[in-house]
Amino acid sequence: MKKTLSRSIISLILAAAFLLGLGFLCVKYIIDSDMWASQSYNPYMVSGQGLSNAGDVLDRNGVVLATSKDGERLYNENENTRKALLHTVGDGSYNIATAVETAYRDRISGHSKIFGYGLPQSLKGKNNLTLTLDSDVCTEVYEAFDGRKGACFVYNYKTGEILCMVSTPTYDPSNIPETLEDGSYLNNCISSTYTPGSIYKIITAAAGLEYIENYEDMTFTCEGEKQIGNYEVTCLEEHGTLDLKNAFAYSCNIAFGDTALKAGRENMQKVSDKAGITKSFRIGEVFTAQGHFDLKNADDISTAWSGIGQYTDTVCPAQMAILCGAIAQGGETRLPHYVKGENSGKSGRLFSENTANKLDELMRYTISDYYGDSMFEGLTVCAKTGTAEVGEGKLPNGWMVGYSKDEDAPLAFAVVVEEGDYGFYSAGPIARIAMLGSAEALRNN
Ligand SMILES: [Zn+2]
Repeated sequence: MKKTLSRSIISLILAAAFLLGLGFLCVKYIIDSDMWASQSYNPYMVSGQGLSNAGDVLDRNGVVLATSKDGERLYNENENTRKALLHTVGDGSYNIATAVETAYRDRISGHSKIFGYGLPQSLKGKNNLTLTLDSDVCTEVYEAFDGRKGACFVYNYKTGEILCMVSTPTYDPSNIPETLEDGSYLNNCISSTYTPGSIYKIITAAAGLEYIENYEDMTFTCEGEKQIGNYEVTCLEEHGTLDLKNAFAYSCNIAFGDTALKAGRENMQKVSDKAGITKSFRIGEVFTAQGHFDLKNADDISTAWSGIGQYTDTVCPAQMAILCGAIAQGGETRLPHYVKGENSGKSGRLFSENTANKLDELMRYTISDYYGDSMFEGLTVCAKTGTAEVGEGKLPNGWMVGYSKDEDAPLAFAVVVEEGDYGFYSAGPIARIAMLGSAEALRNN
């Protein structure tokens, strides 16, 4: 009798364990099947069949960027458009992490949770994917890079829609060269980080505003260089005496080296972390590369240079556009996405409202009183340029980041040109094309 009872108990336990395991597998299958199916180890996908009947990829105006015909994957007829959109659309492979042909392959290939890829084409329907990007603006921006490497990213900080995302070096997905330039697979907008140079003064100014008493009323004296310990911080020129607004607009290194030292290592770190420099942000199905800001082992001269965006500082272009979107909206912003109808959520608070409003004043002054509004005719732009020393005998990287305050064109942007030298002359003209084009695209629909 005892034996029978213990046997029944064991059987019951086994049955329960089996059901539990089966249940877990079912749930896991429902949640992850799309992901499993679109992995490159699935031979069905690697053989290219996953895309041979895949849906179209369209830009925001319905322009066809990729389509499948007679079992072949075809891309837009314009070579420069194909190159400009490579990192957003893809090349049929899994080599570009941010491309929709990689990150959204399950959706465009029509993978079904119940039938897998087994459903006949006639029953699959069209699995088209519409992007938020304007392919004309992207093409124009790609042409403006004129062979130089870098990234240009523009998004609507109110809706999260990315209008322009261009990364170079790139290549033609319809005619893939045998040897690719280094970094061709990387979407520099989302997946790369760069030395920021003077655009980091936005964050240093935030640290000053939050942690230095009467910071706004301070004046700075620049004699072109300043001794800190045994080393020197140098400036591009001898600026003389400047108030904060002009120190920011003229981008005085002495003023912001001083600011970093006065705010202190811990506070510089705190403000950088809060502003999202050391974080990764969600953009649809992918994540931005994390920037770097770390003063753990920094002495005074290194701390001063960190406030000028040198030392070991790095930032990701999309991350800088998000940060600018947050300043435009009082400290918090919507995160970008590039597939229509998606929602990447919010950034969380990157700046206090008071700090965001004061940064807005500094960045607005830089355009209205220093560079001049004619640069972005028809838009009310706030921005900061940067010229980031990268060493190794290379020319500095040129940067421009900012946003427009216009109700009908709420756009944040980040542009970097590798070895572009002065940010205003290299990144500036590309920012202008990207912003004016994106604003027109928004106003048209
Ligand atoms: Zn100076």
